[in-house]
Amino acid sequence: MQETVAAASGASLWPSCLDRLAQELPQQQFNTWIKPLDAQWTPDASCLTLLVANRFKMDWVRAQYAARIAAILEQIQGYPVQVELALAPRQAPVAQEFSGAIRAPIAGEEPVQTSASAVAQKAAEAAAPDAHRSRLNTVLTFANLVEGTANRMARAAALHVAGAPGQLYNPLFIYGGVGLGKTHLMHAVGNRLLEERPDAKVLYIHAEQFVSDVVKAYQRKTFDEFKQRYHSLDLLLIDDVQFFANKDRTQEEFFNAFEALLAKKSHIVMTSDTYPKGLADIHERLVSRFDSGLTVALEPPELEMRVAILISKAAAEGAEMPEEVAFFVAKNVRSNVRELEGALRKILAYSRFNLKEVSIPLAREALRDLLSIQNRQISVENIQKTVADYYKIKVSDMYSKKRPASIARPRQIAMYLAKELTQKSLPEIGELFGGRDHTTVLHAVRKITAERQQLTELNQQLHVLEQTLKG
Ligand code: ADP
Ligand code: MG
Repeated sequence: MQETVAAASGASLWPSCLDRLAQELPQQQFNTWIKPLDAQWTPDASCLTLLVANRFKMDWVRAQYAARIAAILEQIQGYPVQVELALAPRQAPVAQEFSGAIRAPIAGEEPVQTSASAVAQKAAEAAAPDAHRSRLNTVLTFANLVEGTANRMARAAALHVAGAPGQLYNPLFIYGGVGLGKTHLMHAVGNRLLEERPDAKVLYIHAEQFVSDVVKAYQRKTFDEFKQRYHSLDLLLIDDVQFFANKDRTQEEFFNAFEALLAKKSHIVMTSDTYPKGLADIHERLVSRFDSGLTVALEPPELEMRVAILISKAAAEGAEMPEEVAFFVAKNVRSNVRELEGALRKILAYSRFNLKEVSIPLAREALRDLLSIQNRQISVENIQKTVADYYKIKVSDMYSKKRPASIARPRQIAMYLAKELTQKSLPEIGELFGGRDHTTVLHAVRKITAERQQLTELNQQLHVLEQTLKG
């Protein structure tokens, strides 16, 4: 019993983590250190034990990868996962892998490949040649991307690009907060194009990996190869470009690749946590290029979309989620899809472990911790502090009489959020903002409400603030 449940709850989690690591790490590192790991879960999926073949590997994996693995799992799962390492029960062939002259790899150097993992790597490449070359995660497709108001426009643009790359909307710039489906959408574009044109040259790359490719090309003086690799693509999918901030050489290389690709009508799709002009420390000429095609936002999913996502993800796991339970969860977990997935995983694990049907009381029980955090009241003080930090003004300016726009506007935004996110009345809010009249608060609320409809920039900032405050 115990084991079946453990296998069920961790079943999709570890493969997702592996996918992520496969994208982040150089292939050789991944194949040598990560792929051979054996994953064992506790029934509630809160602790993962990774079995390694010998002590040497154990130390190396712990030092180099354990923290990252825990961080990825937490991201996927929505709550912390304890990662432990243990020696696998002795099995003749694996245990001998590092006998003989053991040499610890030097940081930054790729470890000597063992013959066993070399074979594994060849097999993997033969099995999925395109997935490997393109670094696409074949699981992330349009078919399992639920459509809703929040992503309709971005999805339509992405579909268009996948169907006719190099034509309209080039580059396509997709932005939005964490866990809203940017990476998913990107992979969907690549997977769709390869379905239709298997010979297309597609590359998915995280911006951090691009940075490290530039560094490597720099150290090894292999810029020609680097250029050849990037400039020959039909579709470049580059994720989280905000990571280019302050990396001058990377920005220059990216600019070159960008120009070369656009000139030969290859398509570029980018994502970021903010719209192009909101990007900090990226050269103006790049920013204006980013904005020269189509820029679309992914919004946090609305209630109905959250419900649909829960039901479809449960079905994908072979589980049934009654609609009223999906509504209950969707009402309580609001910020992003990744958190919804974490909540769903908890509920399914809980249901399997206790052999109980998925119901509202069960969901309430399974999400106890999460709900108590969500229900923590948002206070006006917290809003004032968060908004002041965000706009880099002093908290005391929230209740001061100062009137320059640089202060008055964040103050109005904070009043608006106080009205939206707390139960306080207008006079109470006015009181907490340095004894202001309730008409002042009302004016602020109306003004920001109206402007929010008009100004994408403001709308995006408010989304970020709301997400931060809701935790
Ligand atoms: P981001 O890159 O914006 O942080 P991801 O693309 O990693 O977000 O999405 C987080 C998780 O939510 C992924 O597992 C993804 O598959 C899922 N997801 C996001 N949007 C949707 C959607 N509309 N339908 C189904 N799953 C979604
Ligand atoms: Mg992402």
